[in-house]
Formats: sequence, structure tokens, C-alpha cells
Amino acid sequence: MRVTFVGSGDAFGSGGRFHTCIHVQSRRSRFLVDCGASSLIALKRMEIDRSGIETVFVTHFHGDHFGGIPYFLLDAQFFSGRTNALTIAGPEGLPSWFERVMETTFAGSSRAERAFEVRLIEIEPGTRAQINGIDVEAARVRHGEPDGPFLAYRFTVDEKVIAYTGDTEWVDDLIDIGCDSDLLIAEAYFYEKRVPLHLSFAILAEKLPLIAPKRLILTHMSDDMLGRLGRIDHETARDGLMVEV
Ligand SMILES: [Zn+2]
Ligand SMILES: [Zn+2]
Repeated sequence: MRVTFVGSGDAFGSGGRFHTCIHVQSRRSRFLVDCGASSLIALKRMEIDRSGIETVFVTHFHGDHFGGIPYFLLDAQFFSGRTNALTIAGPEGLPSWFERVMETTFAGSSRAERAFEVRLIEIEPGTRAQINGIDVEAARVRHGEPDGPFLAYRFTVDEKVIAYTGDTEWVDDLIDIGCDSDLLIAEAYFYEKRVPLHLSFAILAEKLPLIAPKRLILTHMSDDMLGRLGRIDHETARDGLMVEV
């Protein structure tokens, strides 16, 4: 399967990068993980077929992960000619957050007639679900007040496991989420500064033996982290990076 980092940035455009958006193309399905405010621009720049995306998994409702949903939907409605259903899956509270983000971005858009169905699925942490042929497990992580919810994901698709921490400070549940995965995508916000609610490279490096992923790619990096890439002997994401898993 092919994983494309459509956006590898943080909320604040560090390094001139697009907001978080990861495109996964497997044998059976295509999906996004997160769709930040600038993700539609990035998807178009990379000429990714938007109508082929069946599912968008959302880790949390911050604008750099969720704020692109209205643009994605209105583009599907008016420009990309979508007729196939779109599933948006995310934390508890998704239906009300969906309405809020749509109405804030384009008043009236949450109830507009569309040529395609939008299915909203709330994912319960600690359970396992099958969504459009993707086996997904989620864990609740810690990333702010009010308490999200904020999720990390573990996807099994084409007999491979891709895990993504989302935004979070270290929580032990990340061990189960990333354990023995074929690809772990992990936030590395700061290089060594330990701050609440985000992962730094230093703490991730310390915990990495417990997770033991087969491959690690760091993302969602601040200017502090981007300035030290030369010192890091792990793979790091950049916008447009494509990897085969
Ligand atoms: Zn973020
Ligand atoms: Zn966030």
C-alpha cells in the first residue's frame, strides 16, 4: 500500500508546510487520516483523486486536523462531481462538531442537498471496528482541555499495520497502538523540550523500544524540531513524501 504525506505540518505553518493530512491507498480502499484547513489545497497540488477517497478518519477536532472538512465537502459538491458516499469517522461528538465546522465555515452548508451521502461514524476508543474494509482501533490520548476526545489510530489494511499517534503527550496506550506496526507515524513537536499535550522527539526516542515499530516516520514538527533534522537518524515526513508499506 502507498502512504502519502499530503500535509506534514503543525497548526502554525512551521516550515511552510501544509496541515496534517495522510493519504493511504490500499488494494481495497483509499482513505485520509485528518484533513486540516489547508488540506484541499495540498490534495489538489498533489493531484490526488478526491472522489476516490472513501473515508476520512479524524484524530481530533482542531482546525489543523479537521478544519478542511468543509472545503473538501463543498469541493466534492460543486467541482469534483462526487456521487459516491463519503464516510467521516472520528471521536465521540463528531455529528455536532461536523455541524459546527460546516456552519462556521459556510453558513447553511451543513444541511445543503448533496449528490452524495455523508456518513458520520463515532469511533469508541478501546474497541475494534471495520469501516469500509479498514480494520481500525483507537486509543484515547491526551492533548488538551476540554478533553477532546483526542484519538490515536491503528489501522490494519492489506495485512499491514499503520499506526498514528495524532497530537498527544506521552500516554502508555501509544504502546498498544504502535506495537510492532509496519509503519508508525508519530508526532515529534519539539526536539527535547517536554511540554504538556504534545510529543517531543526526546520522549518518543526514550519510549520507542517499548513500541518497536518496523518503521517510524516523524511528523507535525515545530520550527524547533525542523531546525534539528540534521541531528536525527529517523525518517521525517515532508509534504509530498510517498512511502510503500
Ligand atoms: Zn495538530
Ligand atoms: Zn491538535
